[in-house]
Amino acid sequence: MSCGDHHETDCSEVLDHLYEYLDQEMPEGDKSKIKEHFDECSPCLEKYGLEQAVKKLVKRCCGHDDVPADLRSKVLGRLELIRAGEEVPDQPVLSQESENGSTSLEGANPPRA
Ligand SMILES: [Zn+2]
Repeated sequence: MSCGDHHETDCSEVLDHLYEYLDQEMPEGDKSKIKEHFDECSPCLEKYGLEQAVKKLVKRCCGHDDVPADLRSKVLGRLELIRAGEEVPDQPVLSQESENGSTSLEGANPPRA
């Protein structure tokens, strides 16, 4: 993913370290590089905003910082719908059930359970 413009810090590099930045596990020097990138690259800033929203939501709902992969993809999917202006199905995000079957439930429902 790239906005096509040249930046001092490459988009892929920024996205690779997005979680470190979110979790503030990043050296100050690198943080300012990434912050600078967000200032000039809206696709990356948008991506960062989404991840930050997911993180906040999970923290509020689950009381911890770890975002389960399937939950994260569900939340991101909903945010995409909202952004696309589509109607969002009224279905609890934290439910393990998936109506459209597109969400991977690996680990959630072991077949031998
Ligand atoms: Zn970028």
